[in-house]
Amino acid sequence: MDFTKQQLIGLTGGAVLLLGIFLPIVSMPIVGSVSIFSSGRIDGYVLLGLAIIGLILSFTNNLKPLRLVGGVSLLIVVIDFIYLLYKLKSIKGDVSEKLQGNPFGGMAEAMMSTVQIQYGWVFLFIGGALLIYAAFAVDSTNQSERVYESPDIAIDIPKSTKTKLVATDMFAHNAGVKAKSEEKVDDVEFKACPFCAEQIRVSAIKCKHCGSMLESN
Ligand SMILES: [Zn+2]
Repeated sequence: MDFTKQQLIGLTGGAVLLLGIFLPIVSMPIVGSVSIFSSGRIDGYVLLGLAIIGLILSFTNNLKPLRLVGGVSLLIVVIDFIYLLYKLKSIKGDVSEKLQGNPFGGMAEAMMSTVQIQYGWVFLFIGGALLIYAAFAVDSTNQSERVYESPDIAIDIPKSTKTKLVATDMFAHNAGVKAKSEEKVDDVEFKACPFCAEQIRVSAIKCKHCGSMLESN
């Protein structure tokens, strides 16, 4: 089965997003590494669904809805990322505030300092971005297809010219028939010259054969 470049971008985006959902986004003391999925929040399930939808859409070459799938995915990832940064900052603030003067304060702060943002975010961001890119890459293909349509228009012009030519020919042909029929009407109005007996037009005032002047009847 052959995939287009856009499909491959979409499939890659879906796969990277899917992988990112299960990769660590933050590592914390005691708890260890946490992924969006293992955090147990609904975001993990929504992103999982979106990644699968993205893969199906890419596989079936239905790429335009990927804008929405990728857009929503990226929005969730951005919101989660900001939310995590905010939460970590407030937790750190809380810890140092609550444990001020506490002999274990230093230890708690040292533990909090081991909290680290993990590489899972890179996959989540790139996955979502690739899904959107796959959808917009389709647009540019459509545009190039539209550009390819112009030769058709160029072909259309000679076609219409041909039609015109045919019409002109037919008109000329009809006109010719008419001219011939008019000639035939004239042919009927022939008479014999009274002087040389050659066929001359009834309307002639001078015989073209013998040069005799004819009386108009
Ligand atoms: Zn004559």
